[in-house]
Amino acid sequence: MIIVLKPNITRRQENAVLKEIQKLGYEPHVMRGVARTVIGAIGDERTHASLETLTAWPQVESVMPVQKRYKLVSREAHPSSSTVKVSSNVILGARKFHVMAGPCSVESEKQLMATAKVVKQAGATVLRGGAFKPRTSPYEFQGLGEKGLKLLAKARQETGLPIVTELLSEQHVDLVAEYADILQIGTRNAQNFQLLIAAARTGKPVLLKRGLSMRIEEWLLAGEYILANENPNLIFCERGIRTFETYTRNTLDLSTIPIIKNESHCPIVIDPSQGCGRADLVMSLCKGAVAMGADGLLLEVHPNPAEAWSDGAQQLTFDHFTRLMREIKPFLAAAGRD
Ligand code: PEP
Ligand code: MN
Repeated sequence: MIIVLKPNITRRQENAVLKEIQKLGYEPHVMRGVARTVIGAIGDERTHASLETLTAWPQVESVMPVQKRYKLVSREAHPSSSTVKVSSNVILGARKFHVMAGPCSVESEKQLMATAKVVKQAGATVLRGGAFKPRTSPYEFQGLGEKGLKLLAKARQETGLPIVTELLSEQHVDLVAEYADILQIGTRNAQNFQLLIAAARTGKPVLLKRGLSMRIEEWLLAGEYILANENPNLIFCERGIRTFETYTRNTLDLSTIPIIKNESHCPIVIDPSQGCGRADLVMSLCKGAVAMGADGLLLEVHPNPAEAWSDGAQQLTFDHFTRLMREIKPFLAAAGRD
C-alpha cells in the first residue's frame, strides 16, 4: 500500500502514522519529496488489519493499493488466454466461437425440444434455459425447478448440446450441478459471495453475469472468488447494466470486451437479450460483440415470443435466430474466429 501524507504536516504527525503502520503489522518505507511525504507499507493484507483505516487520519491524504486487488483472474498472473472446456467440442476462449441459445425459461417439453432442435440446426453449440428464475415480482412465473432441469437433460440427450442454466440459490447447488454443464450466476447474484464459493466448489464451469450496477473491478473480484476456490473454469458474461436510459431495458456495455481481454485471461461472452430487452436490437449488438472479440453469445430464442412466460419482448423467433446465425458469419471471419 502507498500512503500519501498531506502537505505541511509536522514530523510528529508523520511519526504517528509510521508508528500506526508498524502497529498494524506492516513495514513502513518513507519517501520524502519536496511538497509531500509518501510512505510505502509492505506486508500481506490478508493476514493483517487493513491500512485503509488510515484514510480517516487527518494527516493522511490517500491510501492506494500498489497491486491490483484481483490476482488470479488477472492477465499479469496468467499472460496467455485461458480456455474453459465444457465438453469435447465446446471449449470457450479458443478460436471457435460459441453461441449458447434457448428459451429464457423452460416452459414445457414441447417448447424446449422444438427450440433445442432449431438452435442446434442453426449452429448453436450450447443450449440455454432457466429452470429456477429470478423474477422481479413474486407473482411472476418462477420456473419449473427440478422438472425444468430434467427437461434440459432430456434435450441434451436428444441433441448432444451441453446445457447452461442458472444457479439461483445455495440451497440448489447439488441439484443444479447434477444437471448443468455450465452454472449460470445471474446478475442479481453476481456478488452473492457464498453462492460463488459454492458454485466454484462444484468444479463445473461458471458463467458469471455482470451485476446490474457492478463496476468492472467488482466483477473481476467476483470472478476472483471462483478462481480462489480452486475452480479455473470461469466465463464472464456481460448482460448490460442499469443506467438512466429507458429506451433499452439495460445498457449493454460492449467496452467490457476489450477491458476484460486486457485485464483478464478468462473468456467473455455477451448476452444482448438481457442487454437491450428488445428482439429488434439483438442482431446489431451480436455483430458488434463478435467484431469486438467476444468469445461467444448467450441468446434467448422461443417458438412464440409473444406467448413466452418470461422476457417475451427480447426473445428471438426461430427464423430471426437462424438469420442472425447466418449474418454474423462475415463478422466472425473478420475477427478471425470459426
Ligand atoms: C436470464 O439469462 O434469463 C437472466 C435472468 O439473466 P440475468 O441474470 O442477466 O438477468
Ligand atoms: Mn431472460
